[in-house]
Amino acid sequence: MAFMLGYCSNSPKRCHHAYSLEVLDRIDACCPDCGLALIPVQNLGRQLRIDIKVLQIIFLVLSIILLLLVYIYY
Ligand SMILES: [Zn+2]
Repeated sequence: MAFMLGYCSNSPKRCHHAYSLEVLDRIDACCPDCGLALIPVQNLGRQLRIDIKVLQIIFLVLSIILLLLVYIYY
């Protein structure tokens, strides 16, 4: 059985699950409190991984530029 991990998509004022940003695991992909659909966590995790990859590439490029600058000036 595949559980759906996600946050409540309701307004934080209307649902305490949305307010606390609590990760809920539900088979029916609905908040147990207000019944609204959940925002899946998997997408957020993938987005974060892409961000980390971009940062790593930027760091790599910067270090190569630094190495080249040192190489040119010596
Ligand atoms: Zn809710």
